[in-house]
Amino acid sequence: MTESLNLFIPGPVNVSQKTRNAFSSPIIGHRGADFKKLYASCQPRLQKLFGTKRPVYISTSSAWGVMEATVRNLIQPSEGKVLNCMNGAFSDKWFDVSKRSGFQAEKLQVDWGQPITPELLRARLEKGDIDLVTLIHNETSTGVLSPLKELSEVTQEFPNVFFVVDTVSSFSTMPISMDEYGIDVMLTGSQKALALPPGIALFSVSQKAMERAKTTPGRGYYFDFLEFQKNHEDDMTPSTPSIGHIYALESKLDDIFQEGLQERYDRHAHTNKMVHDWVKERGFEFFAPQGYRSLSLTCVKNIKNIDVSAWISRLKAKYHSIIDGGYGKIKGTTFRISNMGDETEQTIAELLTRLDDVQ
Ligand SMILES: *Cc1c(COP(=O)(O)O)cnc(C)c1O
Repeated sequence: MTESLNLFIPGPVNVSQKTRNAFSSPIIGHRGADFKKLYASCQPRLQKLFGTKRPVYISTSSAWGVMEATVRNLIQPSEGKVLNCMNGAFSDKWFDVSKRSGFQAEKLQVDWGQPITPELLRARLEKGDIDLVTLIHNETSTGVLSPLKELSEVTQEFPNVFFVVDTVSSFSTMPISMDEYGIDVMLTGSQKALALPPGIALFSVSQKAMERAKTTPGRGYYFDFLEFQKNHEDDMTPSTPSIGHIYALESKLDDIFQEGLQERYDRHAHTNKMVHDWVKERGFEFFAPQGYRSLSLTCVKNIKNIDVSAWISRLKAKYHSIIDGGYGKIKGTTFRISNMGDETEQTIAELLTRLDDVQ
């Protein structure tokens, strides 16, 4: 077996022993009463975390499955047009996914490291012909948090536009309200902010978006929103889900609500600030501008020209811990430290001391 590493990369993150124990619960049939009970027990708490009265669906896929599904379920072929807000690796990729799915897509591109601003979004939507906007709330590749509330005020000025938001690395680390923000599809994955093993995605669909899906051809089967809803009415998923994940999710929801939502948000804010203080004290800079910095990870500009990959190798060799050496085109010129999931004041303090030690 591979030796276990402490993961301070922004996903996948460390999965607790308690969660792993739940994950390896005995398998049950996915059409039986025990499964339905398990599924139903997650619903109210998921709805609370999503800030919605709509159902929350469980997809056995990574987040990309649902990200692609939003376009396929909501865009009418040859008519509809997607506007992909782009400011980093994940948001840029969504444009590519829209095109590969055969749809018309347009870029709303800003430089990596910058947020998507309400002014920019409004200016484009005012020109018309956009049916769906995709936004990554917290761009994990650059550590940029775009102003979701302000952006949602803009999209709500355009009631014919569907607003799709990826909250993969921000979900449950700060308050997000799907209903209040008028979000049409909100989604998250398992292995980042939720600190579950990789392999499922969670999402919710507004009434308006569900109505649209009914008229969209080519939704396929596996990711058909209507199938999710139909099965949800019986506390089930369309196809055989990863049952271990749903046990793990139930256990994680217990943890989250036992800790308390405000306490969870405060913990993330606190551990994030610890990393920020360290960055400043060591003479580094942030990749993201002030006011738009992620609360669940920190993307650091390597202005000291440190050999990041050698540094991480030493951290790994001596302390069995890793941070991330930068994503895609900013590899080496940046590095990222995650404070997502179950990290505490103690584990972050320990990591920062270790980083200093092996520098
Ligand atoms: C990691 C990540 C994804 C993709 O997740 P997969 O699990 O690889 O599908 C999408 N969006 C954001 C913001 C991410 O951080």
